[in-house]
Amino acid sequence: MAEPTDARTLSQCPYCGVGCGLEMLPPAVAGQSVRRDAEGTPMWTARGSRSHPSSLGQVCIKGATVGETLSRGRLSQPLYRSSLEEDFQPIPWEAAFDLLVDRLRTILDTRGAGAIAMYGSGQFHTEDYYLAQKLFKGALGTNNFDANSRLCMSSAVAGYTRSLGSDGPPCCYEDLDHCSVAFLIGTNTADCHPVLFQRLLKRKKRQPRSVTIVVVDPRATDTSKAADLHLAIAPGTDLALLHGIAHLVLRQGGFDSDFIEEATDDFAAYGQLVAEWTPERVAGVCGIPEKQLRAVARLWGSQKGILSLWSMGVNQRREGTAVVGGLINLHLLTGEIGRPGAGPFSLTGQPNAMGGREAGGLAHLLPGYRLVANGEHRAVVEQAWGFAPGSIAPEPGLTAWQQVEAIEAGALDLWWVAATNPLVSLPNLERVKAAMARCPLVVLSEAYAATETAHYAHLLLPASQWSEKAGAMTNSERRVTYCPAFRPRHGQSRPDWEVFAELGRRLGFTEQFRYGSSAEVYAEFAALTAGRVCDVSGLSHALLQREGPQQWPFPSGSQPSSASRRLYGDLCFPTPSGRARFVAEQPLGLAEPACEAYPLVLTVGRYLGQWHTMTRTAKAERLQAMHPEPLLEIHPQDAQRFGIDDGDLASITSRRSRITAKVQVTDRIRPGSVFLPMHWGFSQELACEANALMHEQACPISGQPELKATAVCVAPAAAV
Ligand code: SF4
Repeated sequence: MAEPTDARTLSQCPYCGVGCGLEMLPPAVAGQSVRRDAEGTPMWTARGSRSHPSSLGQVCIKGATVGETLSRGRLSQPLYRSSLEEDFQPIPWEAAFDLLVDRLRTILDTRGAGAIAMYGSGQFHTEDYYLAQKLFKGALGTNNFDANSRLCMSSAVAGYTRSLGSDGPPCCYEDLDHCSVAFLIGTNTADCHPVLFQRLLKRKKRQPRSVTIVVVDPRATDTSKAADLHLAIAPGTDLALLHGIAHLVLRQGGFDSDFIEEATDDFAAYGQLVAEWTPERVAGVCGIPEKQLRAVARLWGSQKGILSLWSMGVNQRREGTAVVGGLINLHLLTGEIGRPGAGPFSLTGQPNAMGGREAGGLAHLLPGYRLVANGEHRAVVEQAWGFAPGSIAPEPGLTAWQQVEAIEAGALDLWWVAATNPLVSLPNLERVKAAMARCPLVVLSEAYAATETAHYAHLLLPASQWSEKAGAMTNSERRVTYCPAFRPRHGQSRPDWEVFAELGRRLGFTEQFRYGSSAEVYAEFAALTAGRVCDVSGLSHALLQREGPQQWPFPSGSQPSSASRRLYGDLCFPTPSGRARFVAEQPLGLAEPACEAYPLVLTVGRYLGQWHTMTRTAKAERLQAMHPEPLLEIHPQDAQRFGIDDGDLASITSRRSRITAKVQVTDRIRPGSVFLPMHWGFSQELACEANALMHEQACPISGQPELKATAVCVAPAAAV
């Protein structure tokens, strides 16, 4: 049940996909003095909400300090310049809309809708996402909407869909309390999803023998410190490891033949493939002792209640979908899905990437997990949106990196970036900068001024952010939380959904974009999900406010509940046969492995106290104090080999760029690999553009670039 909202306001944390419940306390609580941020602005205070079923009162330092970040460095009014050489000048919203309508009409008349694209964000509320789809895919007639989820979860989306028949994580956080094995692969959960990790850790401390923690990561982290078994595999060898585990499970009879028989298809080809991945071969490829592989395989083959958790280490790979498939294969092989404590569970990066997927916020999707390429799906959505048949184009639009390539090729005349900072987060940043510099019109909707992307924009639109607009977000366990507006909008800022609706009306779609509130937008979206896997047709802003967060599926007529539920408990999967599918793919390894000229593999990741491109977290002193600078982690053997000492400045060079960072010599990282955080962009005092080094080669199925690994060389900075 929702708590009373006397002085407190309940919401969901706007950082990571754990989606913890927050209680926001106003600047002046009775009897206390007003709290102010570093610029003297009255400040709301965040603390964990005990009534939120996903987080039970827990919160990490990012969520706890979010109140300090909401007013500082904000973009207050629309700004425009006709070329990147000019300074921005303030313009009224009216003029900004006139400019957008004029340019859009001209482009539609001269180049066609394909010359327009939007790159959105998992920071959007579901209402923002939904109206962006309606505007681009319905009104403008282009499917060129993609989001930063493409860099984050699109391999999980594609993997779930291929193996289980639909996107949607089947598990819930309560599974952390029930599993006997937590298999964490490609995730530094301690730093990136801290509240979930603490939940697991507390259980482990209370009852050490109740759960075995296995961590698969080339790097030792706070996550691996808690592990019973840490497999520090060579970067890019995870699919070989998963096949090696399956090989041993099959050989030792640890599989669930009834489950395979009743609930799956395509086992034979998979069995043949993993037969090739002998323990000797896998141990050699992965660079781990064979006994470690055998120990993990014994767990998979003997334990009930195996929960797999993964994030970017699996998804951000040129074979990301295949690795997700390899992991789900293990769950199908052992029947470990649809029961308490069991299943494959992707940990989402952004707070509402899940809501974005539900609203159709990727270039190949339509609302309700529908597909652009499916004629029946298009017809349902066109009718619901009030557009003529054939309004939605049948081909998927441009993915994130394809949008960059289209700008390079002169095929995009207008690129609209919203609530994200691609000039830190995309790969191969020099190429992105060069592309943006030649785009005729770059529009940026942003809450904060002076992000790296703003340096390459022509039109800046001030966005009201979380806390200033009402909407819904869905977290990794499919739980939807109502996020109210509890602070006034900053300056002239407006919520993104409102801007998209206003633009739609000005383009002549008066009826389709007539909304009095975000609650009306949500109601329309929710109705469109009826009968789909992600059915939220029984949810509304009013119900979520009254009853508190709810998990989907929540069809019309459902009873509100704070209980946790799983998908596929009936072993009925949304595939044509109703059965899950094994997928059989040979590992490819890294697209850019180490070589003579670039002898180290750079892997990038995140720090506990920073969030993505630091647009918001750089505003909180406590977070800055935790991580004052980016550090290049290098193994002592490699440091000696390349003549670098702890504390030196090193130059790191890939085939695309060169950057400089301070060195930390540590045996946390395995020999042959180095690590950098991805947060720092060129406008930070300590510019360290890790993603400038990374390549853009992507998984051919999901389109997710391999941001996790690239080949580099390092040298003392003075020697370069
Ligand atoms: Fe926010 Fe994620 Fe921290 Fe929870 S774990 S408080 S959602 S950043």
